Order: sequence, then C-alpha cells, then structure tokens
Amino acid sequence: MAHRIAVIAGDGIGTEVMPEGLRALDAAAKRFDIDLEFTTFEFGNCDYYLEHGKMMPDDWFEQLKDFDALFYGAVGWPDKVPDHISLWGSLLQFRRQFDQYINLRPCKLMPGIKSPLAGREPGDIDFFVVRENTEGEYSSIGGKMFEGTEREIVVQETVMSRTGVDRVLKYAFDLAQTRPRKKLTSATKSNGISITMPYWDERVLEMAKQYPDISVDKFHIDILTANFVLHPDWFDVVVGSNLFGDILSDLGPACTGTIGIAPSANINPEGKFPSLFEPVHGSAPDIAGKGIANPIGQIWSGAMMLEHLGYKEASDAMVAAIEEVLAEGNQSVLTGDIGGKGTTKTLGEAIADTIAK
Ligand code: ATP
Ligand code: MG
Repeated sequence: MAHRIAVIAGDGIGTEVMPEGLRALDAAAKRFDIDLEFTTFEFGNCDYYLEHGKMMPDDWFEQLKDFDALFYGAVGWPDKVPDHISLWGSLLQFRRQFDQYINLRPCKLMPGIKSPLAGREPGDIDFFVVRENTEGEYSSIGGKMFEGTEREIVVQETVMSRTGVDRVLKYAFDLAQTRPRKKLTSATKSNGISITMPYWDERVLEMAKQYPDISVDKFHIDILTANFVLHPDWFDVVVGSNLFGDILSDLGPACTGTIGIAPSANINPEGKFPSLFEPVHGSAPDIAGKGIANPIGQIWSGAMMLEHLGYKEASDAMVAAIEEVLAEGNQSVLTGDIGGKGTTKTLGEAIADTIAK
C-alpha cells in the first residue's frame, strides 16, 4: 500500500530545497521498492497569507490528518508577514493539533564538515536531542498586573503533566535502547527551579527503573550547554523540557557545522496523527532565489521520515549517501556554505545518484 506524504514547501529556500528532498526520496523509494505517494499543498506559505489573510484554509486539519507524514520545507518571509503570524499560522499549528510531542534532532558531525569546536572529528559528535514539544515553559498561562506603572508585574507559568513528561521520557529511553552506547542524559535545573524541575528529575528516576540497561545521568542546563561545547563526545541521547530542549536542539546542530545540513522531526509516536519532517534551518530570505541553499537538511529529514515509516535500511542508505558525497568533497558539487562552488541542484543530484547506485 502506498504511503501518502503531504508536501508543503513553504517559503524562501524551502521551495528550493524541497525538490532535492523529493529527488532523494524518489531514488530511495526506487532502490528499496517503497511505494511513496506525494501530494503537494500550496498553502502554509506567506504568498497564501497575502492572498487569503491566513496561512492555511480553515479545513487544513481535515485535508492533512489522514496522511502518513508531512514533508515540510521552511516558513517565513519577515519583510512581507511578521514571523509570529507565519509561524503560528502553520508550523506551530501542525505541532499542536497533530500532537507532535516529540521534537527530534540528530546532531552528527559529518565527514568534510568543519565543526566550530576545534579539533573535533566525525565520530566525536553523534547524539540525539529529544525535546518535549507541547507543554512545559511554553504555556500561555499567566498575565500582567499594574501594566505601564512602576509596579508592573508579569507572570508566566510552566506546566508539566505526568502524561506529558512521561511520554517524552519514554520516547527518549526507547531511543537510547536502540543505540550502541545506551546512554541517556536529562537536562534539568532543579537547583534553581524548585517545583517543576525536581518533578522532572523524579519522573526520570521512575522511568529509569523500567530501563535497567540504560545508563542515566543529569546535568543542570547551564553546565550542560557548556559540556555540549567542551565534551560533545559524552552524549548519546539528551532529553529536555520544551525550553531546555529548544536551546539544546539549536546548540547541538550548531556544534556539527552548518545549519544547512541539520534535519529534524516532529513526531506523534502513536501515529494517531501524521508526524512532520523538516530541516532545522528557516526560509533564509538572504540567500533565497539564488539556488545556492544546501539541500542536505531537507534530504536528511526525508531519511528520518523513511525511518519513521518503517524503512530503516532505506533511511540508512540515504544518510550514507549524504556522508559519501560530503567525504568526496567535490568542490563543483558542494554548496557554498560547506566550501563548494556548486548549487542546490548539483548537490541534490549527486546525493540522489549515490542513493540510486
Ligand atoms: P528561522 O527564524 O525560521 O529559524 P532564520 O531566518 O532565523 O529562520 P535561517 O533561515 O535558518 O534563520 O538562516 C540563518 C542563516 O543561515 C542565514 O544567513 C542563511 O543564509 C543561512 N542558511 C540557512 N539555511 C541554509 C541552507 N540550507 N544553506 C545555506 N545557508 C543556509
Ligand atoms: Mg527567523
């Protein structure tokens, strides 16, 4: 049976890297005999907003909910539409309405890519950040008092539910279970945040009882960010609340070189709703329209999508092809952000050809 994929390219370089993501997926589908059926949607971008006064049609949920996955480019064109409108009107709606409570980002230093951390080689950095994506610090509960006066007070609450915390922890422990090192690191700040973070720590200890073969440690977020930079080789699976996960899931990929190659997944693990796969980078208006954006973030996100759909071998082959093309280091193929003189297309084609062989 065909796997139905909804494709939303979005804005800026999203529309340029998406064709390369699809090219790579086509190559993998052919080689591994996977039936993928793509349906493109022309909403969820700023031009749609300028025409309709909203980012998506009112029935977007109905239109998308039965797909097996969403393959997504990037959204935003700040000169035309403020970021909070474009983001809240599309991507954040998907994350919330489709209960994509896991945000997953691999942080892996690839061959031929220079890490900003001096002396780091591929193999030194290879871990996942698992971010809680639906609650925690990003609640809208709170308010203002005495606004505009000297006595002004603002409050915003953190919300942690047992279900919400346990489900992200379970996902992270399960992931650690599949990794050779079987190691899980929890981000906390229970020395300063005295109610929610000790609760998080408690749930980690409770969950750990069900995973006796996983070695578990925890770091306060301040020293943890320092250790990402000083000792990235310590980490295997790192799990954090919405805010801490947000910070770590930008810092982790940053340690692996260019933002152009980092992939991500927003996952509803039960499969009740479609999960969404997108590059970490945004729409990059500064380079949009030039055909020079690095397509690897999009292609790698496609690989994550195949793994999610149950095709681990095909997914691994896509990542291996990315590694091979990077290792070859052909200047005329690679994009400018990784030291080449090529284009989105030359790099996309080289990877698709490598997947195909
Ligand atoms: P967002 O707010 O959506 O995260 P942003 O505008 O803050 O987006 P990006 O769009 O990711 O950030 O761009 C940040 C910088 O990285 C820009 O200078 C951009 O040109 C560069 N960049 C982003 N993606 C790529 C890519 N795929 N290839 C090359 N350079 C990229
Ligand atoms: Mg931005």
